[in-house]
Amino acid sequence: MPVPKVILKAKRAQPFFGRHPWVFAGAIERTEGDPADGAEVDLVSHGGNFVARGLYNAQSKINVRLYCWEEGRALDRDFFRERLSRALHLRHDVLKLNGPDAGYRVCFSEADYLSGLIVDRYGDWLSVQFTALGLAARRTEIAEVLRELLNPKGIYLRTEKGIGKLEGAELHDGLLWGELPPADLSIAENGMRFLVNLAEGQKTGYYLDQRANRAAVAKLCAGKRVLDAFTYTGGFGLYAAKGGAAEVLSLDASEPALEIGRKNAALNGLSNITFEKADVFGHMGELVAAGRTFDVVVLDPPKFARNRAAVPDALKGYRRLHQLALKLLARDGILVSCCCTGLIAMTDLEELIAQVAVESKRDLQLLERRGASPDHPVSVTCRETGYLKCVISRVW
Ligand code: SAH
Repeated sequence: MPVPKVILKAKRAQPFFGRHPWVFAGAIERTEGDPADGAEVDLVSHGGNFVARGLYNAQSKINVRLYCWEEGRALDRDFFRERLSRALHLRHDVLKLNGPDAGYRVCFSEADYLSGLIVDRYGDWLSVQFTALGLAARRTEIAEVLRELLNPKGIYLRTEKGIGKLEGAELHDGLLWGELPPADLSIAENGMRFLVNLAEGQKTGYYLDQRANRAAVAKLCAGKRVLDAFTYTGGFGLYAAKGGAAEVLSLDASEPALEIGRKNAALNGLSNITFEKADVFGHMGELVAAGRTFDVVVLDPPKFARNRAAVPDALKGYRRLHQLALKLLARDGILVSCCCTGLIAMTDLEELIAQVAVESKRDLQLLERRGASPDHPVSVTCRETGYLKCVISRVW
């Protein structure tokens, strides 16, 4: 059977020869061979040249996701084994993240040339997320390859909200293969331990992307009074305490997350952290009103905008957080501004920080401009993978 073809409109092939993996309907002239959703297709330029092999999905805004630029190569088990082996080579041989009880991202979707597949490793368990119907349909095969390569005790499937609507994929959270993880599953990270709830935690259970940023911030915390707004299961605050902070106040709106945070503190023998359930916006306002000050403030809010229309409101949210933080920071204070909204670029975040500093009549020096940990690489051909920004600055 010949592979069905998706033929591009004239002059629309360049981004795909440039290895961007998302083909939207607007670029497509016609399809040949009547591909089913999830089927392999060859993307072909208007002039008839092969561009790349991908998976088709008429139900998604992304009609074709591209995986392979080698003509004639099938997207079969061997292909997935090779792609995932390349991903593991980075994590194991280059980054040396492969230890006992390790926690790291095994595969980061487009950044590992597997658009729509996220795999995180937490000790002996894998957490898998499919955001593409074509790969979701191949989940059994992908789970088998993961078993071959990583020999886990279990593989747990997490689904992102709205994915059924976006992709037409019918997926439900639950065990994909093997044993359920124990309730006290934990990972080792930079000499600390973190409990991970694969089934109910946010994202795939834990925020692995902030690993290096947490370590960078910990170095600045010895003897300091630290506010970790949006702490989730303790992240930055635990690192700060481990780094010798005098006291830490950790806030989050989620009681289940805070409960794990308290357990994490005990697990790491750290006692000078106060965990409080609070809305950060309201609570920071109260701290300002009470005249409290801090030496380090970490802002790591959730994604504020999922589409362009939501960006202006998202920027207002970031602005408000920075205004409050600058009121709480003492002289020489350290401000840590994280932003995981992909639609807001590093330059936008810096501009916002600069504007708030001027309005607040505080001078700021940018010390570090950081991204996600390198097991969340950024693909130069799909810059959307570079979503996380972390700016560390000093209040002059
Ligand atoms: N810094 C964490 C990750 C934070 S994720 C780490 O290193 O692991 C963002 C967190 O913000 C989530 O835990 C979510 O529960 C919390 N959150 C979202 N909106 C909030 C609000 N208005 N007030 C307090 N917490 C909020």
